[in-house]
Amino acid sequence: MPAAVWIPVALAAIAVFSIAIRFDLNAYLKERKRLQHVRLQTMCPHAVLDRHEDGTVFVRSLVQSPPLTFEAKCNRCHGDYAFDAHRRSR
Ligand SMILES: [Zn+2]
Repeated sequence: MPAAVWIPVALAAIAVFSIAIRFDLNAYLKERKRLQHVRLQTMCPHAVLDRHEDGTVFVRSLVQSPPLTFEAKCNRCHGDYAFDAHRRSR
């Protein structure tokens, strides 16, 4: 093939590869951190087993409401679950 055909083909191939290889590491790490946080919130039971002084075991909720708000957040995973719990109770 003549060079007049090879040069545009090579430039087009380089352009395609440079677009495909472009990769934003910060966006990838930010998305990975967000997905890990979502996974941890999904796995969190929002409660722990605790023990009274007389030895009886009870479930202590980790969900607490900040003062003067209607929000409720889990102390461990910082998820917002107040309105979901309200919908489930209906
Ligand atoms: Zn939680």
